[in-house]
Amino acid sequence: MDHFPIFLRVEGRRIVLSGGGEAALAKLRLLLKSTGHITVFSATPADEIVTWAREGKLRLERRAMAPGDTLCAALFYAADEDDAEDARTAAIARADGALVNVVDNLEDSAFITPAIVDRDPVTIAIGTEGAAPVLARAIKADLEARLPAALGPLARIGKTFRKAANALPFGRARRDFWREYYFDTGPADIAGGEDRVRAGLDALLAGHLQRRARDGHIHFVGAGPGDPDLLTMKARRVLDEADVVVYDRLISKPVLELARREAVMIDAGKEGFGPSMKQEDINALIVEHAATGAQVVRLKSGDATVFGRLDEEIDAADAEGIAWSIVPGITSASAAVAEIGQSLTKRGRNSSVRFLTGHDMKGFADHDWATLARPGEVAAIYMGKKSARFIQGRLIMHGADRHTPVTVIENASRPEQRILETTLDALPAALASADMSGPALTFYGLAPRAAAAAQRHVTNSYASTITPIQEAL
Ligand code: SAH
Repeated sequence: MDHFPIFLRVEGRRIVLSGGGEAALAKLRLLLKSTGHITVFSATPADEIVTWAREGKLRLERRAMAPGDTLCAALFYAADEDDAEDARTAAIARADGALVNVVDNLEDSAFITPAIVDRDPVTIAIGTEGAAPVLARAIKADLEARLPAALGPLARIGKTFRKAANALPFGRARRDFWREYYFDTGPADIAGGEDRVRAGLDALLAGHLQRRARDGHIHFVGAGPGDPDLLTMKARRVLDEADVVVYDRLISKPVLELARREAVMIDAGKEGFGPSMKQEDINALIVEHAATGAQVVRLKSGDATVFGRLDEEIDAADAEGIAWSIVPGITSASAAVAEIGQSLTKRGRNSSVRFLTGHDMKGFADHDWATLARPGEVAAIYMGKKSARFIQGRLIMHGADRHTPVTVIENASRPEQRILETTLDALPAALASADMSGPALTFYGLAPRAAAAAQRHVTNSYASTITPIQEAL
């Protein structure tokens, strides 16, 4: 950017122009929109300039410019359309300290005049640094067509209403209100005069406030395992429109960064500073915000419907009559199985798969161990690290093969991902030495594809190995 756009205060300041022909007229038409004091020097002024002078819109000196004529001028235009004369007058103005523009001479000009869309006080300046005046004109024409003609008066009236409109929450609600005023109700009301516009603003605001109270909504959104590319488009959209985002401990930073910049971000899973928020408090929090009309996004890791305590939050929303919806996400089992190149189900191996939790509210969770212990069974075990020894004991007790492959995927889909290949027999020891601190999903009955192929040749010889993400497959 060789030319930095600014809006220069010219109110009551001198603007001097030398010239009386077409170029002078073009510039003067623009300059007359300003509140600057204009002086024109020309021995042969065009009729229009003479008329403007007679009407008191500018001062006309019917002579060539001389040293001292640009004293205290803020701007000077050399518009004689004669290189030698322009150079002479520009030199005088420069010596007097004015900012100089030589018409059609970018090189010798200290500033350029942009194409202007005038909806005073809304002024849009378009510049191309002299590269493409045609383009600037095309953009100007496009904007002229798009902006309501009455934008100027509407902006002036709107300015006095800004405090009142702050009753709407900052962000989308307020933006929607103003957009409707400037592009819809305002232009319709302006013909009825200023009072009509003001009454229209009052009614519009009342409507928006009411609508918001009615329109609060909770989106229960599955945020997936951590990789933001694994979010659904719908999840991205609601994040982009959120007023409030309440998120869990397992939600990754890159996912949080997709939330609308103005959204209020609430960490419901704080660790380190104290225990995470109680479930009842989370329920109250999301309901409270939605009741004020906010678009609340409740972000849960993986899929919100899998071990997500979702129903408790839905019940709380229902109790207050608040609308809600669920946006599905990729559950950890799906993400993790993709990382080891396997299928959750496979013809001839397992025709069903179980999603288990290692522990529930009462402690280690009990399951149908006898069925799981049969050959070929596959289970995705969530929250299974602490309960590994318990699960191992139960399965072996029910006759499971000690060499059944077990794979633990920590931080699936994230840069810190690790894959631990082991067997049911070696699981607790392997977990202890891997020292995993991130969320981990345990597959009972599945080995990474490459290891599973090798296993067919070397039976019963699973060593526990741990692989970072790049070597996983
Ligand atoms: N609703 C979530 C599960 C919540 S329970 C889902 O659908 O995935 C939390 C458990 O999910 C963790 O203990 C862990 O077992 C698993 N988990 C969540 N994110 C994970 C990740 N990125 N990698 C591996 N396991 C993950």
